[in-house]
Amino acid sequence: MAKVKKTIKTITVDVDKCNGCRACEMICSAFHAEPKYSSNNPERSRIRLIRLPLQDIYLPVYAGEYAEAECAGRNKYIIDGKEYSECDFCRASCPSRDLFKEPDSGLPLKCDMCESEPPLEEPLCVKWCINEALVYEEREEEVEEQVEIEDLERSLKVLLDDFGEEKLIGTLARLTQGEPR
Ligand code: SF4
Ligand code: SF4
Repeated sequence: MAKVKKTIKTITVDVDKCNGCRACEMICSAFHAEPKYSSNNPERSRIRLIRLPLQDIYLPVYAGEYAEAECAGRNKYIIDGKEYSECDFCRASCPSRDLFKEPDSGLPLKCDMCESEPPLEEPLCVKWCINEALVYEEREEEVEEQVEIEDLERSLKVLLDDFGEEKLIGTLARLTQGEPR
């Protein structure tokens, strides 16, 4: 099976440096607005802040894969004297919470690392975080080409089953045609 090179892009989070300013949410939602920068709404952001000021918890989490069903994990973790729930660290758009869902359609939001043409030097949430709580990293990995395609097909099928063809195609059309939302 053919192997292809894939660039793995990640954002490392340093919670000790985050002060909860939410600049990352603002710029992410503005960058993904149609037309670009026409509006900002944290609910459309692909990075969200778990913000509990009374407990001094400011935890930025960027959106990962869509999960069809909620998991059973409900553990609590104490880190540096602060209590976090297992869900706080999870990047999934899942049925058990409102995070990472497009407010109009309910479709899952996923971080695309600010994909753009020409490419940006670094993702905008990283650039706008003046506290350097977010650090962008890239590494090369070899992956099976077929597995990549199968993953894509599987994801599309799950979305089609859950949201229906009309909603999915309508959202894609809106995103590609630049209709304001
Ligand atoms: S911009 Fe940086 S400091 Fe501000 S909320 Fe986001 S991660 Fe935290
Ligand atoms: S990398 Fe870009 S798309 Fe991903 S969370 Fe940051 S600003 Fe949003």
